Amino acid sequence: MALQNKKSLGQNWLTNRDILIDIADTASADGVSEVLEIGPGLGTLTSALFKFFDKVTAIEIDEKLAANLPKSFPGKNLTVINKDVLNVDLSTIDLPEKYVVAGNIPYYITSPIIQKFIQAEHRPIKIVLLMQKEVAERLAAEPGDYSILGLSTQIYAKVTLGQVVKREFFTPPPKVDSQVVVLEPRETPLASESTIALIKLGFIAPRKKLISNLTVGLRLPKSELQDYFAKLQLSENVRPADLSIAEWSALEKLVHKH
Ligand code: SAM
Repeated sequence: MALQNKKSLGQNWLTNRDILIDIADTASADGVSEVLEIGPGLGTLTSALFKFFDKVTAIEIDEKLAANLPKSFPGKNLTVINKDVLNVDLSTIDLPEKYVVAGNIPYYITSPIIQKFIQAEHRPIKIVLLMQKEVAERLAAEPGDYSILGLSTQIYAKVTLGQVVKREFFTPPPKVDSQVVVLEPRETPLASESTIALIKLGFIAPRKKLISNLTVGLRLPKSELQDYFAKLQLSENVRPADLSIAEWSALEKLVHKH
């Protein structure tokens, strides 16, 4: 099949066997024989995944690609679902208790894909995704560099960075480099829904001082927030990106107690 591509669907093909095997190896886990692949495209990662898993369920939005995929894997336990991954109801897929998710995903829906799987009722034990390097770094950020995306991901999953894949390895090459990210969904989130709501308010103006954003967002007198900040030994100069998840949770408890 010619390497045709639809730019709007983020179709940049990866063919380097060593990189693909490394991604599939990273996705493998003891006692897990099934993987859910997002965006199999021409099936190069699918092929590597079959080295580590007995069964692959692949979700591909492109009708032609979805129809062609089984032809490349005769005799293999492959199920192809021709749908938008964001519209797939996971409860309708036949998945074992323990499964993993893997994919070289289209950049335009990285964030909703992550939120869908880390918050799913039947969560995978591991999610291994190749994505834009800059987004990977935001997901793995630490206090000082946090964003809403980084915080809301780390609250639900442990984030680890994997190998960087230079743009030249893709056909056609995208404008940016990529990086592997490993997400391990937590059994219990590190913070509550109301802490996440507070984080969103706190980031109204990401570069401004957190105390100013919260004064406006919570409609509280500044003196009250100064009091909470003092209790938590937080400088009044901190920006939204500076707080750890534990500090956000502690702040939320003070704000909602009053
Ligand atoms: N896995 C292949 C590889 O590594 O060469 C293809 C990766 S390509 C970056 C992204 C793939 O996701 C394409 O096959 C594209 O058609 C598919 N895709 C794009 N949007 C999708 C969506 N909303 N749901 C499912 N698949 C999607």
